[in-house]
Amino acid sequence: MNSRVRIEIPEDSGFGLTHLPYCVFRPRGGEPRVGARVGESIIDLAVALDDPMFAQPSLNAFMTQGPQCWREVRERVHAAAESELPAAAVHSVQAVRVDLPIEVADYVDFYASLDHATAMGRIFRPDGEALLPNWRHLPVGYHGRSGTVVVSGTEITRPRGQTRTSAGTPEFGPSRRLDIEAELGFVVGAGSALGIPIRTEDFAEHVFGVALVNDWSARDIQGWEAQPLGPFLGKSFATSVSAWVTPLDALAAARIPLPAQDPEPLPYLTGSGAWGLDIDLRVDWNGQRVSTPPYRRMYWSPAQMLAHMTVNGASTRTGDLFASGTISGAERDERGSFMEMSWNGTEPIDLGDAKRTFLEDGDEVSITASAPAVGGGRLTLGEVRGRILPVR
Ligand code: MN
Repeated sequence: MNSRVRIEIPEDSGFGLTHLPYCVFRPRGGEPRVGARVGESIIDLAVALDDPMFAQPSLNAFMTQGPQCWREVRERVHAAAESELPAAAVHSVQAVRVDLPIEVADYVDFYASLDHATAMGRIFRPDGEALLPNWRHLPVGYHGRSGTVVVSGTEITRPRGQTRTSAGTPEFGPSRRLDIEAELGFVVGAGSALGIPIRTEDFAEHVFGVALVNDWSARDIQGWEAQPLGPFLGKSFATSVSAWVTPLDALAAARIPLPAQDPEPLPYLTGSGAWGLDIDLRVDWNGQRVSTPPYRRMYWSPAQMLAHMTVNGASTRTGDLFASGTISGAERDERGSFMEMSWNGTEPIDLGDAKRTFLEDGDEVSITASAPAVGGGRLTLGEVRGRILPVR
């Protein structure tokens, strides 16, 4: 009963000792608890670190402790991963179920890719300016629905709603233009008080880590309802996040300067916020790679997003999630939505044995990503995957 094991890490693993992402998992027949991934194994932190803070159904109890605690735990997990552990503290990734890792407090989605905003502007306003006048002055965003954030693997029921007919009147039915948005999500671990904005340079004191996000979008519902206000039922039916949260410190080698911002933003959006991130995403549609969005081209940094989100004095809470907005590059096969890739449904996307513009029932989308790891090699962010079910 007291057997001990040492975790083997495959040579080219995206889950090496400098990554150590967190999840919430259920051992067979057991209660949900916090785990850390090493190679193809999960370390049960409540057992390995003998700490009830990790015998919890979300990361929130841990995240709320703040950055000092995050760093200490990360060092302890690193040491545990290198030592012999009680067999009861180690599970195979394949043998357990993973849950939503965070109890999502508020959810905000931005629109921070210049290539995405430009493409959407060209689609909807072919004769006008691609960018609206505010776009280069602030990270545009909206508040989404935190209660429908679901973990990767959750099946997505096709939404129904009002859509506009060619006669200009609405009809009701299943969305025919169901789309994805490949995004990066940022998880607030340590919140902030009402009335006190978060400065760009304090980003890492508040943000615990990152997770891939798929912001499922019904373009036909969105197009009819979102005038003059922002996204509503066209987005709120589901937002998927990966089961793994990569600690911000694990991305230290992926930090790069932002692309140039012109004009220079207002002072509250400047500062020591060199939080560009060299992350390569990949979108697979029914097993076929269709796009490789480059996060490094994002115009607004997550530090600027957080500063803007709180500049009016809005507080933040443990579990707040804010996402980058669709990540797109300049090329067709770098776009992070099918709306852009198919140019509003006019240019079908080749899936090998089929062509698509928007999602059909039974289709499955997987978004994956990798980034330079501390000490060399690459780390793999947790996948976000979902399959479309017909309306019920
Ligand atoms: Mn979005």
